[in-house]
Formats: sequence, structure tokens, C-alpha cells
Amino acid sequence: MIEISKVSKWYGSFQVLTDCTTSIGKGEVVVVCGPSGSGKSTLIKCVNGLEPIQQGIITVDGTAINDPKTNLPKLRSRVGMVFQHFELFPHMSIIKNLTIGQIKVLGRGEEEARAKGMKLLERVGLKAHANKFPGEMSGGQQQRVAIARALSMDPICMLFDEPTSALDPEMINEVLDVMVELAHEGMTMMVVTHEMGFARKVANRVVFMDQGKIVEDAGKEEFFGQPRSERAQQFLSKIL
Ligand code: ADP
Ligand code: MG
Repeated sequence: MIEISKVSKWYGSFQVLTDCTTSIGKGEVVVVCGPSGSGKSTLIKCVNGLEPIQQGIITVDGTAINDPKTNLPKLRSRVGMVFQHFELFPHMSIIKNLTIGQIKVLGRGEEEARAKGMKLLERVGLKAHANKFPGEMSGGQQQRVAIARALSMDPICMLFDEPTSALDPEMINEVLDVMVELAHEGMTMMVVTHEMGFARKVANRVVFMDQGKIVEDAGKEEFFGQPRSERAQQFLSKIL
């Protein structure tokens, strides 16, 4: 579903990604971790074309992101993205947050979009909050809405960038539970997170980055059992 092949990227003269290669098969869950500044957010932004790459190839469902002929907005509309900060539209009700993209981008009718939005709100346990505004909800609730909003677009895969790292501890699990359920339903997911409990539960593989390089790309048993690189061992010993 996602192929990342020999990708390098520079911000000006600073090389942020060096020769990154990995892939995520349909229905796979890959957790990306590594120290702050190692390039995790940059890599995930490159996957849906929010950041250009200077070398290498990224394809999503067979379409090359960095091919000038690719209809990037169209492809991006099929890739769900959830960020650390929930980024809901603050001036719109929750249900409006869930219908606007369906109507404006996918051309769905109001009724259909609303029905889908309500179904997704029910799924993340927030049906009763449809008419609230984002500011009236907790961080954990807002992040569940953000996931529901991404799902409203019928994504072919989901990208998460530290979706729980801005949340108070008691709200982390309510968001992770939604993500675990998604994983069990077979959604293809690339998840930047330091929640190793989540990784142990649902990841097929763990990618460890350091200084813009993919240092380790291993099955989770292997990664947690005996990471090959010293850098990953150090990292794990600090966060586990
Ligand atoms: P991570 O998500 O692993 O913490 P990032 O991908 O955010 O890492 O950042 C990797 C490196 O690139 C950091 O050194 C960061 O300072 C730098 N960086 C990130 N975004 C930009 C940008 N827009 N312009 C210049 N440098 C950036
Ligand atoms: Mg980051």
C-alpha cells in the first residue's frame, strides 16, 4: 500500500532524511519511533505529499507521490492523517467537522454525509456530542473526532503523527483504543508513536529512526526482543 524507496530529503542544506526505505503492506500496521528530531514527522508528511522529497520514490496504492503527473489533492483525500494537535475546525460543530470534507471533496449529499458522520461518531463513542464545538470537548474527545473525520473520507490508509503525545495521561487510552480497533479491522496504518504498549499490541513491524535514517525495521518480536542497533537498545531502555 505504501512504498518508500531510497528517499532523501533536505531542508535547504540540512539533510533531514537519508536513503529511507520501507514499505507497508495492505492491512499492515507499522509503528515508527525514534528520538526527537530524527525525521519521523518529516517522513510521514512526505508520504502524503505535504513535504516534497528530492530523491527516491514514494508510492501510495501504486501512485507515485512525487510524479508531477499525479493528482496530489485527489490522492491526499484518500490518505487519512491525524496529527498531534487535533486541528479540528474550531468554528464548526463536531458533525460539521465530519461532513464538510465529504461534501466539498467527495461530493456527497448533505444527508449521506451526515448519516456517515453520525455513524462514525457512534463508533468513537461520541454520538451525543455531535452538536458541540471542538472547544467544548476534552483533548481525548477531540482526537477521537479527528480520527472519525479522517475515516469519513473512506481512506485507503491512515497516517498518525504522535496522536496521543499532547494528551493528558488519562485520555491516552481512549484514543489508543480507537486505533487498536481500527488496526483489528484491517486498516493499513503508519503510526509515529512512543506508545510501545500500542506497538506490542497491534504493530506488524517497528521502524526505528535516528538522525534521518531508518536504523531498524523489524518485526515487533524481534524489535522488542533484541534490537540490533545500539541506538535502538538505548532508546528502548529509556522509554520502557
Ligand atoms: P521528529 O518528528 O522525529 O521529531 P522532524 O521530522 O520533525 O523530527 O524533524 C527532523 C529534523 O528536521 C529536525 O532537526 C528539525 O529541526 C528539522 N526540521 C523539521 N521541519 C523543518 C522545516 N520545515 N525546516 C527546516 N528544518 C526542519
Ligand atoms: Mg515529530
